[in-house]
Amino acid sequence: ATALLRAHALRKSFGRTEALRGASVEVAQGEVVALTGPSGSGKSTLLLCLAGVLRPEAGSVTHDGTRLDDLPEAARTRLRRREFGLVLQFGQLVPELSAVQNVMVPLLMERHGRAAARTAALAWLDRLGAGGLADALPGDLSGGESQRVAMARALVTGPSIVFADEPTGALDRVSGEEVMEVLVSTARSTGAAVLLVTHDNRVAAYADREVVLRDGAVEDPAAVR
Ligand code: ADP
Ligand code: ADP
Repeated sequence: ATALLRAHALRKSFGRTEALRGASVEVAQGEVVALTGPSGSGKSTLLLCLAGVLRPEAGSVTHDGTRLDDLPEAARTRLRRREFGLVLQFGQLVPELSAVQNVMVPLLMERHGRAAARTAALAWLDRLGAGGLADALPGDLSGGESQRVAMARALVTGPSIVFADEPTGALDRVSGEEVMEVLVSTARSTGAAVLLVTHDNRVAAYADREVVLRDGAVEDPAAVR
């Protein structure tokens, strides 16, 4: 089977810092992959290149046969909105919007009607065990609750892959485990793949496969299929 998402020989520098030096990784449809490695090894940079947020200087990123790295900005944004969900370490919710309004945002950007967007957003909050939080403001949510809302926002558009950068990094152990269980079980039931950045072995254990980065490249070539 061909990979859903494939990065080949990516290079990305910030000034004189070479964050990625020929990193390659593949994610199959529905697969949960953990990207691990020491701090500064390029995990976040690789995730952001795969997610089409950062543009690599060399190498290719292919999603379902489409080259992301040389798509024009507008087309890349459209593909990102339709196919990708993004969950970061801190929920990154819009503080002025209620939980349900936050989850509606990606649908409104895709020009769904307000009523339909609200119904879908409420259903996703329910599914992630956050139905009772619909009208709460982000400032009143715990870390675990914020991540449930952020996951609902990432999944509401039906993405083929969810990118999660240290999704449990700001949580205590128990809420971190809850968030991982909800993330992985929801991804499995929707068929979405997950690419997870973490430095925590307990979090990586939720993945089907682990890819280790060191100094901007994948450490063990056998880990790339
Ligand atoms: P990791 O996620 O493994 O900790 P990062 O991808 O965040 O690694 O960073 C890899 C290297 O690139 C580090 O040296 C980091 O300081 C640097 N870096 C990452 N993003 C930026 C940026 N926006 N500007 C400058 N340097 C950056
Ligand atoms: P991580 O927890 O993955 O190591 P960091 O704390 O290194 O992430 O970085 C958080 C954010 O800051 C990322 O978006 C990264 O690209 C950016 N960043 C990292 N290092 C630098 C840097 N030296 N200068 C500017 N931005 C950076």
